[in-house]
Amino acid sequence: MREKYLFGPVPSRRLGLSLGVDIVPFKTCSLDCVYCQLAKTSEKTIERKNYCDVGAVLDELKKRLGRGLQADFISISGSGEPTLNAGLGQIIDGIKKITDVPVAILTNGTLLYRQDVRADCAKADVVLPSLDAGDEQTYQKINRPYLRLSIEKLIAGLCAFRNEFAGQIALEVFLLEGFNTDTEQIGKIKGAIERIRPDKIQLNTATRPTAEAGIKRLDTQKLEAIAEELGEKCEVVSSSCVVRVPSCVNRNAQYAVRNTILSMLKRRPCSLNDICTGLGLGSDEALKYITHFQQRGLVHSKEKDGIVFFRAN
Ligand code: SF4
Repeated sequence: MREKYLFGPVPSRRLGLSLGVDIVPFKTCSLDCVYCQLAKTSEKTIERKNYCDVGAVLDELKKRLGRGLQADFISISGSGEPTLNAGLGQIIDGIKKITDVPVAILTNGTLLYRQDVRADCAKADVVLPSLDAGDEQTYQKINRPYLRLSIEKLIAGLCAFRNEFAGQIALEVFLLEGFNTDTEQIGKIKGAIERIRPDKIQLNTATRPTAEAGIKRLDTQKLEAIAEELGEKCEVVSSSCVVRVPSCVNRNAQYAVRNTILSMLKRRPCSLNDICTGLGLGSDEALKYITHFQQRGLVHSKEKDGIVFFRAN
């Protein structure tokens, strides 16, 4: 059965094994980040809309839970900015009624200046917003926001959310060589973090293929040095994924595995190792599926720093 809204479980350093729920159309986002691993933003907007039928999302999840799900989180994320979906709060309420698996939201944080968005996000257990710049110029250069957004609006929204939300906030800072890694910029980001008071700061860099060419990852040594500078709540999360073998996938159900891989590759580029780790497959088996997809023109590959990543066409 092909799922429209769910993907994974996907392994990540930030959430362990998480089942993704994708609630906005592909590349509908308030930002157009140079490092985006999906593509350039096709619909740049800050307008909240009912992008999907809440009942249909919850029905899909109910069916998946019925087949057995092993995941550390249900994460609302996917192909764009999830807070743009006006049904976000209802979706989280619905998830909470049918499972105890904690809910996480991966958001760029730009809409947190709105009270309704903060109220929706506060229904989750963990919120993972982003902050990649300490001043307006760098924000424009990296995140290329929708016209009416600014770095101060983002920071003020994050501060307001912190004051209202008792759950975990894990703030991601995406570091790009030549963009936001000099001493002055790190000092400004540190100042903003002190205002926001997240529970954790997680440093990431461009290890996967990016929307713009020539985006350089930061090496591990520099990431570690910046993590030290940002204090004890800061950790580096950029290296590859946790190795866990979930029991949620029946290996004989080849059709289900095939669809699960394709839905993962639609939302993010994955290496062979990511696919093996996420679905508990051996590399020979995963390669068999990838070869099958490539022969049928369903998947293409792209290399980044010596690692081959696969994406659905
Ligand atoms: S990285 Fe996230 S916030 Fe940035 S453009 Fe891509 S989907 Fe939007």
